[in-house]
Amino acid sequence: MNSIKNVSTQMTVRHLKEPFRTSLRTVTHFDLIEFVIETADGLVAKGEAVETPAITGDTKERILRDLNGAIKDLLEGSSFASTLELTTALSQLPAVASAKAAADIALYNLQAAMEDRSLRSLLGCNEVSLSTDVTVPVADLAEIPQLIEKRIAEGFRSFKVKLAMESIDLSIEKLKLIRALVGDSSVIRIDPNQAWSLTHTLAFLERVESAGIVIEYLEQPTPAGQKAALAQIRRKSGIRIMADESCFTLLDLEELIDLEAVDLLNVKLLKSGGITPALEMVRVARQAGVEVLVGSMMEGDGGVYAAAALAGAIAPHHVHDLDASWWATDSRIDYSEGEIALSWIN
Ligand SMILES: [Mg+2]
Repeated sequence: MNSIKNVSTQMTVRHLKEPFRTSLRTVTHFDLIEFVIETADGLVAKGEAVETPAITGDTKERILRDLNGAIKDLLEGSSFASTLELTTALSQLPAVASAKAAADIALYNLQAAMEDRSLRSLLGCNEVSLSTDVTVPVADLAEIPQLIEKRIAEGFRSFKVKLAMESIDLSIEKLKLIRALVGDSSVIRIDPNQAWSLTHTLAFLERVESAGIVIEYLEQPTPAGQKAALAQIRRKSGIRIMADESCFTLLDLEELIDLEAVDLLNVKLLKSGGITPALEMVRVARQAGVEVLVGSMMEGDGGVYAAAALAGAIAPHHVHDLDASWWATDSRIDYSEGEIALSWIN
């Protein structure tokens, strides 16, 4: 048996190379909250969270309060044969998902350290790199060529285009431009981050189809709480629909499945509360025929690496949404030819 001697939190600031603009927010830098576990025999493991009040509702203050309160109370002094024994009790704590995610990732990292292997190996991922998209932020038409050319030059072939609420003519003009710039063999995904109404979305999709613009899927066009709107959109369009902000928990997923609302799910550890609940969501989604891709918030390398390890374990040959560390000025994760390297932590 081993035991947890103490847990603590620390914060660092992360800066981005260019502003990350979506219809929900603009990010230029952010605080990274690290959760550190130290065992009685001197092993140290970390997990991470960031605040995303516009998305999860979880503020820095609340995340720190939970990590240094309920989660510390649960973990400090506890003994275990495998740290994964502690993840169930953690997932049931009355704490915000972002805080639980940081602690759950730390427990997985600790288990990997105890077994002297990488997190990706612990999760069953044999890949050394994975395909990822890269985000094209909300931008004016005139800014798009430069944004796209930079991403093409760095080898990306899948583009997640963020669109705001704007005229459909303008959105279509942007998509035509992007398609011309990236070529026919690249993939375009669209993510309005809840900014659209049902009628706007239906009109947009009709225009996309009539203009012959090929997109891989449309992610979360309508507000998170309006799950039935996703179902209506899916029934009326041939374009595949992905849920992001509408799906945080298993309960959300089950509602979406009952409504037959989605083709795909974007799983993020800060929404689900870590790897443990995410794995359960993957199982339930797949049973219902819903395809799962893994994404992340604008996070630190530890959070992105954990998400990538999960992605590599559950769907190694899909194109995930793991470009967050590409945006950072101080990334320790390598990106090349549209792939994220998983060699950062061995
Ligand atoms: Mg999204």
